[in-house]
Amino acid sequence: MFQRRIESARPSVREVRERQWVYVPYDRLTDATGPLHALAPENTGIVMMEALAKARRRPYHKKKLVLILASQRHFALEQAARGVKVIYEFTDGIFADGLTRAHKAYHFDSLTMMEPAEREMRLDVAEAMARGVPLRQVEDTSWLSTNADFDRVYGAAKPGAQKRYLMDRFYRSMREKTGILMEAESQGKAKPTGGQYSFDEENRKPYRGVPPVPRRPAYPPDEITSEVMRTVEELFPDHFGSTTGFDLPIALADVESCWQFALHELLPVFGPYEDAMATSEPDLFHSKLSAWINIARLLPARVIADVERQARSGGIPLASAEGFIRQILGWREFMRHLHRVTDGYRNTAVDQEPPAKPRRRDTRAGADTKPEPLPEVGARPSALGASLPLPAAYWGVKSGLNCLDTVVAQVVEQGWSHHITRLMVLSNLATLCGYSPRELTDWFWIAYIDAYDWVVEPNVLGMGTFADGGVTATKPYICGSAYIDRMSDYCAKCRYNAKQSTGESSCPFTALYWSFLDRHSDQLGSNPRLSMPYATLRRKTVEERKAFRVRADKAISELAGATYPQPS
Ligand code: FAD
Ligand code: SF4
Repeated sequence: MFQRRIESARPSVREVRERQWVYVPYDRLTDATGPLHALAPENTGIVMMEALAKARRRPYHKKKLVLILASQRHFALEQAARGVKVIYEFTDGIFADGLTRAHKAYHFDSLTMMEPAEREMRLDVAEAMARGVPLRQVEDTSWLSTNADFDRVYGAAKPGAQKRYLMDRFYRSMREKTGILMEAESQGKAKPTGGQYSFDEENRKPYRGVPPVPRRPAYPPDEITSEVMRTVEELFPDHFGSTTGFDLPIALADVESCWQFALHELLPVFGPYEDAMATSEPDLFHSKLSAWINIARLLPARVIADVERQARSGGIPLASAEGFIRQILGWREFMRHLHRVTDGYRNTAVDQEPPAKPRRRDTRAGADTKPEPLPEVGARPSALGASLPLPAAYWGVKSGLNCLDTVVAQVVEQGWSHHITRLMVLSNLATLCGYSPRELTDWFWIAYIDAYDWVVEPNVLGMGTFADGGVTATKPYICGSAYIDRMSDYCAKCRYNAKQSTGESSCPFTALYWSFLDRHSDQLGSNPRLSMPYATLRRKTVEERKAFRVRADKAISELAGATYPQPS
């Protein structure tokens, strides 16, 4: 049905010759910036592509595949409605295969595209160019910062040299450069609105049911999206999750309505509960728009401008607005540059894990038995020597740890969970237990609808697990049960006791936390940001430390022992 509809936008031979052609990859679906913005629709043609080999590269969450393919198809139809001519190709291979075939059929003089952020896409594009496709890469203007902005703060990267990149400096320089949330002072100087760059300290409240979380609008799939859902179930039956209940915004008008909802209903209360976790309200006041920002259906500049305007008119408190803007202007841009300068951690001097043995590919929650290995790609930094296999609990087998089981269930269902659940439950547990950072990264990449190499690798290998040895973070983000108990309602419903740190019914997180610090005291013991916990640890008796170790080892072996149900 989609193919029938898009066929009418196919160009004639004359139109191929007379128009300017743009290649639109699946993550740059915008005409609000870049080459498509600059060209008049009646002079423009676009090439778009669905490459099955890309979708098969990992067992991506089915909802992610629906989101991307349906958004692509809607974008193609939206462009056709503007008068842009569209060549929409399908290939079983990689994008380079489809591009080569399209070029053989149409003989483009030139195909312009924005430089991809995704390393995997950059390789694909290089392959197409090597085969003679006349791709011309221009700057990706959907970003808010340039390479020079990053290099100005940290200095140019030197191969082999170990640098530390702390986000805060970059964020301040971006606020100064853009003038976002800045006030003019005398002599051309500017100061941050509200007198400080960050209001993070104010944004750490637990959520106790008040204020109520507004109901999010749902967007039932239209016929284009329904067709994609059927295709995904048919072609990728073993992939993670399911398409059931898909109600995400796909058409541009729906993405816009979703953003207006976030801007007016969620962001005014976002800040204080940014770090909270709640069973019955797993999404809380988070915008849940990363997946759309990452494929350019929503542009960061526009989102930030709207939030700043609302903050200035009193519609969003400054702490909430600043907290949100910092994520996009700071963290998001920073992570992309970090991935670029470290080549996805390939050129850091950190100890690497040995190559993985081919393992069973565990996709559908608790059901897969296919002995396919995960693709052997990506750097394997493991500064803390972590290398245990990720247990079945991450694929949906119940562990009895209520925090973990609750968050994993949400990820299996939605392909999304918010930042603190990613950091302080999923990554925290993996760091404390010593699970392979690479395997955890691949899991996030497969499971989340917003994951791409440039964003998932620095977030997991850097921020989430300290596998980069402190290139990104000054200390590992780890905690015992006290933090999870304070910031969530998970512990009240758990079979383990958050207040106990040793013994059968004690929460494993606390013993795991202390034995992690004990185990890594040579590497982390002199870290000034860990001086308090290490001072506490040093006051513990030998017996207490041993009891932590025993409890932690038991938890790790129980998690390893949980196995997948055998198929009937
Ligand atoms: P909000 O809380 O509303 O934040 C607003 C926006 O800021 C997000 O939409 C996102 O675009 C951006 N943002 C916030 N934090 C980050 C960050 N650390 N890095 C990059 N962008 C950020 N984000 C991804 O987009 N893809 C990933 O694969 C991803 N993996 C992560 C893995 C781990 C272990 C951690 C700790 C974080 C990860 N993040 C990732 C960052 C962050 O958790 C998500 O961007 C955020 O939860 C998305 O939900 P939201 O749109 O409601 O975000
Ligand atoms: Fe998680 Fe421990 Fe709380 Fe249970 S008691 S929910 S395992 S932190």
